[in-house]
Amino acid sequence: MFDNPTLRRRTLLAAVAGAAAVPIVAGPAWAALPKVYIDPGHGGTDPGAVGNGLQEKALTLDISLQLRSILLANWGVDVRMSRTTDVTRSLAYRTDDANAWGANLLVSVHINSGGGTGFESYRYPSASATTVNLHNALHPRVIGAMRTIGGVTDRGLKTANFHMLREAAMPAVLTENLFIDSVADSNLLKRADFITAIARGHAEGIAAHLGLSAPNPPTFSTVVDNATVGRFTASTNWGASSYSAQRYGADYRFATPTPASDAAWFKVNIPAAGNYRIEVRHPADPGYSASAPHVVVTASGNRTIALDQRANGGVWRSLGTFGLAAGDRNLVAVSRWTSAAGYVVADAVRVTRV
Ligand SMILES: [Zn+2]
Repeated sequence: MFDNPTLRRRTLLAAVAGAAAVPIVAGPAWAALPKVYIDPGHGGTDPGAVGNGLQEKALTLDISLQLRSILLANWGVDVRMSRTTDVTRSLAYRTDDANAWGANLLVSVHINSGGGTGFESYRYPSASATTVNLHNALHPRVIGAMRTIGGVTDRGLKTANFHMLREAAMPAVLTENLFIDSVADSNLLKRADFITAIARGHAEGIAAHLGLSAPNPPTFSTVVDNATVGRFTASTNWGASSYSAQRYGADYRFATPTPASDAAWFKVNIPAAGNYRIEVRHPADPGYSASAPHVVVTASGNRTIALDQRANGGVWRSLGTFGLAAGDRNLVAVSRWTSAAGYVVADAVRVTRV
């Protein structure tokens, strides 16, 4: 869904148009890391476009959080976001925040609606050459990444007088990542691998614009299910169930919450030290935990991430990207140690090098 254009245009833009002609290229001239501002469209009381069981605000946040993880894991950049949770942010807040931070570029992530299909992206009509460079770097990489997963129509590079493009005091591009009201598009948007591909395409476009070198491609991805022989351990306090159709594989494990160390462990053989994205799958049910602790054994200590297992079942949910040491070991745990009511559930873990 588009931002509402207004007729107001700040005089600030006139000054910026001249300054933006300076190439934004990483190199010895940089006194600090390039500042990348990511704007997940909508949020909070503004769901954006809705359709086919999806909400634009949730998709843009998912894409943007993964975009941030990929950027930070692969390149030397500084990242700031207009929101990292489901909160309401005005358009003015977003551009004011980016301008005050002194971002070197801004990318606003949206999902389209209104009876079309495919991917399109926007810059301001009289944008600087640097903005055109960003737009040209971003657009083909996003659609290229999307097409590694499924067929997507290229609606092209466009211009529009959107607030986010007009009021940003730095090169800015707004992407419209498929149509939420298209059944075919929404089926792609429901796929975790497609969302990750969108994020990766954005990251590669931003890196290319900044002149950053290509990262190592992901060469490792593995799934450990609760039924994977030798790679899952849990005490007999953990029951097995095939109750939910959202399960991964034949069944999943569940246990009551209790203040004791009785975690279910997923063991993974990490081939080399590096950054890895860790995702988990679980069925969702109103009777499951509102705050199930997941522990990741990283190279710099254990990290605990709580997941609400009452919702978002049957899809890969990212715990984040972590620096991991090489070796075969218990890597991800689901802990019973939570004050939240409801069963904690352990079903499957996916680990992917990024
Ligand atoms: Zn939108």
